[in-house]
Amino acid sequence: VANEKESMYLVSEFANKFMHHNLLNEEEGKAIGLTYFKERGFTSETIKKFSLGYSPNSWDALTKEALGKGYKLEYLEKTGLTIVKEDKQFDRFKGRVMFPIQSMSGRVLGFGGRILTNDKKAAKYVNSPESDIYHKSKVLYGIYHAKQSIAKLDNCFLVEGYTDVIQFNQAGIENVVASSGTALTPDQIRLVNRLTKNITVLFDGDAAGLRASIRGIDLILEAGMNVKVCAFPNGEDPDSFAKKTPHDQLVLFLEENAKDFIQFKASLLMNDAKNDPIKKADLIRDMVISISKIPDRIKQEVYLQECSRIMDISEDVLFNTLAQLGKKEL
Ligand code: ATP
Ligand code: MN
Ligand code: MN
Ligand code: MN
Repeated sequence: VANEKESMYLVSEFANKFMHHNLLNEEEGKAIGLTYFKERGFTSETIKKFSLGYSPNSWDALTKEALGKGYKLEYLEKTGLTIVKEDKQFDRFKGRVMFPIQSMSGRVLGFGGRILTNDKKAAKYVNSPESDIYHKSKVLYGIYHAKQSIAKLDNCFLVEGYTDVIQFNQAGIENVVASSGTALTPDQIRLVNRLTKNITVLFDGDAAGLRASIRGIDLILEAGMNVKVCAFPNGEDPDSFAKKTPHDQLVLFLEENAKDFIQFKASLLMNDAKNDPIKKADLIRDMVISISKIPDRIKQEVYLQECSRIMDISEDVLFNTLAQLGKKEL
């Protein structure tokens, strides 16, 4: 089994090299893939750093090349690089620009591939399937390049997508990782927890991003970590915002707009709840549920006080709500 995993690592490494080479050196890769990345504002240095690639628009270019080099079909299939159907072989990522997903130690575990057209019928991103080397729930995109910076700055920015991580790196902010399409998991939080106790969630300025960040908050609190949240202007994500904002201004924006989770939730939800007692009651319960996730009693107390102040409700009521939640094991 150890050998099997090693074979899967090796074929993934090969695929990464093939795709990266293709992007930088082959006519099709340059014309389509490289042009795409350049248009997104990625420099050659960035493209190398993240080992971005292009998968040729042919049914089996990668599969053929790998087989020719002696890699076994079995491992091409197990890593999901090749799809085998009735004795025919197809490249999973045909015609896509490629983002290799690396482990903490830099090994290639899988890939995300983005479509180049705006064809709404096709999936924008296709990812490698779960495999013996790629467990989606245990991986954070960008962790290999982020780990030193996270430890040094004692903070980790959490974003949604590959391009958010890359654009931040290019802007000189390296302590950033992405959950990449999956909802944040406890295992992913544990990866960060080894490096810092502080996470700042940067979500897309759209409804989906908002929902995702709110769900993530409680999980991070449960891990005993501190959460801040930073909202982006409507329609912007960290990538698009970083792309048009000079470094110093970006750093300032993040410092000024990163709010502690409780202020964030309160200011966000209070807006449409303040004149509606039922909504306000729901919101308060929601806040207390978040606070109940915090393992540290003293922190809980501090947050209850804060909540009481912001929401203008007595601490006693909040404390009783918290105690009730404990009984119902929410
Ligand atoms: P881009 O800027 O290239 O359009 P994005 O990262 O802003 O991409 P979002 O739509 O904000 O894309 O989605 C965030 C992340 O969710 C993506 O980076 C990707 O990892 C994942 N994702 C998005 N769409 C899909 C999909 N159709 N299938 C699988 N994963 C997806
Ligand atoms: Mn989004
Ligand atoms: Mn986005
Ligand atoms: Mn984007």
